[in-house]
Amino acid sequence: MIERTLVILKPDCMQKNLAGTVMEKFAKAGLSLVACKMIRLQESLLREHYDFLTDKPFFPSIVSYMMECPVLVLILGGENAIAVTRDLLGPTDSSIAPKGTIRGDFGQDKSRNIAHASDSPETAVKEIARFFTKSEVFE
Ligand code: ADP
Repeated sequence: MIERTLVILKPDCMQKNLAGTVMEKFAKAGLSLVACKMIRLQESLLREHYDFLTDKPFFPSIVSYMMECPVLVLILGGENAIAVTRDLLGPTDSSIAPKGTIRGDFGQDKSRNIAHASDSPETAVKEIARFFTKSEVFE
């Protein structure tokens, strides 16, 4: 199925200058860039994006991490784009992510894990609308 997914290249990805390397992995997997912009994440947007984590003790550290520097937000499109992107990233905890996955190769731990990607078609629709206006999205 042709899908779209929302990806955030997080501050550790930007600080390590890995945006190009990570985007090349998406391209080589057959995913196309449908939208792309650099933004500074605001706390209000992060509270919405991570609403299922706001009561966790580590939530304040997620907010400060995600606001360390501007991030790149992308929409990727392609066959099974949601699962393909999540498979390329690997599991949340970079310290146990297999080598060869983006998090396994470049991430640090459960928090600093290089990139976010939508986890279901329903979430992808909501996340795309959260980060992009219609005019910022290209076919
Ligand atoms: P994923 O990003 O793989 O979908 P989650 O939705 O569970 O994972 O978590 C969202 C983000 O919150 C993670 O990518 C990570 O940056 C952060 N996070 C999750 N669990 C922890 C934790 N135990 N400690 C610190 N940060 C965490």
